[in-house]
Amino acid sequence: MKRPAMSEMLGYMDEKPYNNYVIIFDDLKRLARDTEYYLKLKTAIKVRKASVECPNFVFTDSPEGKYVETIMAATGELEREQNRRQVMQKMRARLEQGHYCLPSLAVGYKYKKNLSNLSVATPQPEAKIVKEALEGFASGRFQEQVDVQRFLLLNSINNSKPVYLEFVKRILSNSLFYAGFLEFLPWEVSMRKSDHEPIIDFSIHEIIQQRLKEKTTTFVKNLLNPDFPLRGFVLCSCCKQPMTASWSTGRNGRFPYYRCKTNGCDERNKSIARKNIDKEFVAILDNIKPSKQVLELTKAIVSDLWKKKELGVASRARRTEGEIRTLQDERNKLLERISRTTEDRMVAIYETRISELMEKELVLKNSVKSVNQHRPNIETALEIVFDFLRNPLKQWETGDIHRKKLVLKLVFEQKLTYNRKSGFETAILSLPLRVFTLPEAQKGSLVEMPGIEPGCNRYVSNDSTAVESFEV
Ligand SMILES: [Zn+2]
Repeated sequence: MKRPAMSEMLGYMDEKPYNNYVIIFDDLKRLARDTEYYLKLKTAIKVRKASVECPNFVFTDSPEGKYVETIMAATGELEREQNRRQVMQKMRARLEQGHYCLPSLAVGYKYKKNLSNLSVATPQPEAKIVKEALEGFASGRFQEQVDVQRFLLLNSINNSKPVYLEFVKRILSNSLFYAGFLEFLPWEVSMRKSDHEPIIDFSIHEIIQQRLKEKTTTFVKNLLNPDFPLRGFVLCSCCKQPMTASWSTGRNGRFPYYRCKTNGCDERNKSIARKNIDKEFVAILDNIKPSKQVLELTKAIVSDLWKKKELGVASRARRTEGEIRTLQDERNKLLERISRTTEDRMVAIYETRISELMEKELVLKNSVKSVNQHRPNIETALEIVFDFLRNPLKQWETGDIHRKKLVLKLVFEQKLTYNRKSGFETAILSLPLRVFTLPEAQKGSLVEMPGIEPGCNRYVSNDSTAVESFEV
């Protein structure tokens, strides 16, 4: 039974069945919410030999009395359903106008009345944490959802209550809302700009959704096992797949091993002692000792590359603005055609096309806006990264598992391949460290070079992605 108070009342009567009961309803509508339920409830009351009284209605057992009762119940049901429909229609109309009004609200937001007495979803202080979590997930600062979870826990987002992965998922999958848009497909309300204040860029939302779609790494916990920081990063030389790692028990105790786990690979299950891999890896890191001069130079190069990239972004933005104008032209033409068409079928086709165009336009407009807003301070970002690169070995030896993972990410361009017999194959260092290995850099002659010379570009020209990874 859906009405808990009624169930409670019936339960009470069942506990003390020897009393005589009179049930008084202040209004018949309270008893008769819908026809079907009313008849059930009446039977339930009747078998308990209780009588029912109601100030605005006299119950009689005559055929007329029963008839009126049923009609009253049916009227109650109709009113309720109509009311529900009306509420839904109102809500739907509001959503269509770009006003978010659904009962469930995103984490970090609360409804607040604005000046025109309209309840608007408004970011609360904890929205700052949500923002950092969303942007961190998009930029890769938080590699996995568990990293976001850890961050949210540290910042006690849930009032010191536990933060489950489900909670993290809900935040991430709601990124459209956080970007200031709404969409409610059950009521056929397509995506549109909402009147609530966004906390992230639309571009961040797009990256988050992309990342969620990508197959998430399994065994995340394993990858963060401090016993094996290189798990997932060292590839088997034979099949080029990441090796796994584990402890195995021998005659003289437990030993940590790395091994290939690919079916059909010749190297499968051939163990490599962790200490061998570790020793060689430390040797690689130990070799990376960029001088201050070289780091400064590299920083200048990266910052220069960044500026070039920004120029590219600006010209892309101009192109986008052109595209927006084209879309608007097409839409205006369609609107004109609609006004001249009398055929319903054609009007429907035009309308669909127009709403498609509007959606595209919205996305493009927003990408232009987000480009303009989203200009990170590259100097600060580089400062942090280069501080890290000054001594990667120290970071590796003193850092926890997360810091170690960061070393891997910042120092190497690709995962490392390990051959059981000959050790690590050539490591490809990340861009800033690669510049440092140039012979010119070692001699110090590069330091005088103004800006980026073509000879230097040779090493960095394919690296637009590497530059991107500097957003911190
Ligand atoms: Zn293999």
